[in-house]
Order: sequence, then structure tokens, then C-alpha cells
Amino acid sequence: MSCINDSVCKLCRRENTKLFLKGDRCYTDKCAFERRPYPPGQHGQQRLKFSEFALQLREKQKAKRYYGLSEKQFHKIFVSADRSKEITGNALLNGLEMRLDNVVYTMGFANSRREARQIVGHKHILVNGKIVNIPSYAVKKGDVVEVAEKSRQMNKVLSAVQAVSRRQIPAWLEVDHGALKGSVKDSPKREDVSLPVEENMIVEYYSR
Ligand code: SF4
Repeated sequence: MSCINDSVCKLCRRENTKLFLKGDRCYTDKCAFERRPYPPGQHGQQRLKFSEFALQLREKQKAKRYYGLSEKQFHKIFVSADRSKEITGNALLNGLEMRLDNVVYTMGFANSRREARQIVGHKHILVNGKIVNIPSYAVKKGDVVEVAEKSRQMNKVLSAVQAVSRRQIPAWLEVDHGALKGSVKDSPKREDVSLPVEENMIVEYYSR
């Protein structure tokens, strides 16, 4: 079936940006957003005027979908960011980036965040030498994340590592793809987050 008909790809077209939800395919000319860079549906190509609220909602939806989270999970991270001493928007992005499933994907051990979540859930990932099977686990500076010894020949992991050159590993992570191991050197800076999102609008959305 064509990717264009796939509902996952409609999310990218709805949010007007590539959310990289389909792994390898997102980097090829089969990407539905590359072929149809406008919202799905009958009125997709019309220029619509959005209210302030609608724009804020879209920014929230974009981030939620990019990280593959439910509303409840996303809101929980926002509440924690709102209570922190940091600027809320920065703390929100940090909370999203430092989830273990995102780190496993960003390090290049999975083809997508969804796949990373499965890999973590099925006990294929160690943090500081111990199995952690909670995708929402928040990594900290200094943590070492690696693929478990028994899981190093898994097709999913091997194919992700083979394709890793297509992605840029951000400066806050250090990865040895030969050893299937990486470490968290720092917390992410704003420029390390590749999602084109206006986090202030998400804060405004939840502050209504
Ligand atoms: Fe589909 Fe990936 Fe392209 Fe999004 S980026 S439209 S998920 S192929």
C-alpha cells in the first residue's frame, strides 16, 4: 500500500512538517510529505486563517505526535516542566528529549521512536548496566545507554545502525555504534532539538 494512504503520514501532512514516524521511508522519495506537502482532505490546499488558539493547538499536536505520546503522557511532562525552576518551554523540550525511548532512537539504535519504545519495553536496553524497560524513563547527564548483549544481532537494531548516517547525532549524546553503546554528555540545548516547534505556544495553550 502506498505510504500516501497511510494514516501515520497524514499526521505529517496535517502538521505541515516531517515527523519521521516511518523510519527509513522518511528519508526516501516515497515520503508522503515530500510528495504532497499540504494538509490531507478536500480543503487541504486552501489557504485557511487560523485563530491564535488553533495555532497553539497545532504546535502542541505537532510535538505530541513527533514524540509519539498520548495527551496524558504529554501533559504530564508539561506539568513537570511547569513546576521546574527552568523556563517552562525549555524544560518541556528537555523532558521530551530525555525520555529513554527518544534517546534510543536519537542514538540510532531504532528506526523510529515507536520502534524504540518496543525495543525498550521488550528489555533490550540497559541504562548504567541494568535493564530498563520503561520508555518514559528520564535519562540523566552521565548515564550510559546500551543495547543488551543478547539483543545485539536483532534485525531492527542492525538495520537502524546501518542507516544512522542519514541522521545527525546531537552534541549532547555520544555514541559508539560499533559497541552499540552511548552516553548522555549533557542535557539538550534548544538548538539540539530538530523539531521545528514553537514551545512558547504550547505553554500558552496549556496556560489558558
Ligand atoms: Fe510518512 Fe515519514 Fe514522510 Fe512523515 S516523514 S510523511 S511518516 S514517510
